[in-house]
Amino acid sequence: MRVVIDLDLCGGYGTCESEAPEIFRVVDVSGDYAHVEVLLERPPEALREKARAAERQCPNRVITIVED
Ligand code: SF4
Repeated sequence: MRVVIDLDLCGGYGTCESEAPEIFRVVDVSGDYAHVEVLLERPPEALREKARAAERQCPNRVITIVED
């Protein structure tokens, strides 16, 4: 499993961080612009369901979970 983000479309809302704080963290870039940072690009088995929940909940649909 690999986590892929389209940063150009990330709105920085933090829903992903709420779902899976082990995997995602929202960083404030310039004071009024925030985007997500992926802490674990390849989450371990125990976090896979959380990663999928974040993918489902992202309002901009910019998280893709790739099974490889
Ligand atoms: S939930 Fe989606 S839009 Fe919001 S910070 Fe996470 S990746 Fe970005």
